[in-house]
Amino acid sequence: MRLAGKVSIITGAASGMGQAAAVIFAKEGSMVVAADINEEGLKRTEAQVRDTGGQVVVSRTDVSSSGDVQALVRLAVEAFGGIHVLYNNAGLRHPNDVFATELDEEIWDRVIDTNLKGMFLTCKYAIPVMLQGGGGSIVNTSSIGGLKAADSTAYGASKGGVIALTRNIAKQYAPAIRANSICPGPVDTPMLAVALESIRGARPEIATAAAKAGTMLQRWADPSEIGNLALFLASDDSSFITAANFSIDGGMASQ
Ligand code: NAD
Repeated sequence: MRLAGKVSIITGAASGMGQAAAVIFAKEGSMVVAADINEEGLKRTEAQVRDTGGQVVVSRTDVSSSGDVQALVRLAVEAFGGIHVLYNNAGLRHPNDVFATELDEEIWDRVIDTNLKGMFLTCKYAIPVMLQGGGGSIVNTSSIGGLKAADSTAYGASKGGVIALTRNIAKQYAPAIRANSICPGPVDTPMLAVALESIRGARPEIATAAAKAGTMLQRWADPSEIGNLALFLASDDSSFITAANFSIDGGMASQ
């Protein structure tokens, strides 16, 4: 088992990729601390992990809240004795995240606070615990939206920031801690539906076809395919990889 004895915090674990990763990590022997603002979704994640025989605790955590993140880190230590893996996956895509001149400041703040400040906070409070335990691996979820121009001003800015934040963390805390970012393309989760609706002027069915055609592989990813990359980066299988950014987009960013 590739994460035997390791404690993993996974944010955004109530849905989509985070929920899939919680199950994948648990099957590989990790104790999972599942964090999200969606308590109903967390209950489903908890049940799914328990069904595999895995160990899990859940935490109602808003990653943009310093107090919530500090409580999350304390919970991980109290429940399982430390932190080895931090998978920063929580993210927000706002349906009214539009061209810069039309974008409400409140929406900008909410998206940046969730997608970027949230990762700063989890790193700020989890890294000291990780170092006490000898180090570990951080996996941060960016997006193809952090690499390519698009209409969602705040989302793209936040996801570009995630890649830079990850590089800085990797340099600052090497060699004990490795940090890498991942850039998914279209993944079949509730968030993708929001993204397709917000594509300017496109009817949803046209946007859906375009999103599939936009990948060389002509399809969306299943959340588990992203979970498998996160597992690789979390585990010692990737022991010489740090400060790297991985596209996992069916070729979308290259065409
Ligand atoms: P999702 O909506 O299914 O899951 C995101 C989770 O994050 C939700 O459970 C939500 O409650 C949680 N969340 C939102 N704000 C939060 C906060 N303040 N604190 C804690 N949790 C919060 O979406 P997903 O597609 O599984 O997204 C996972 C990550 O992948 C996100 O960072 C997203 O930006 C990124 N991403 C998604 C796609 C895609 O096509 N689905 C593509 C590229 C990147």
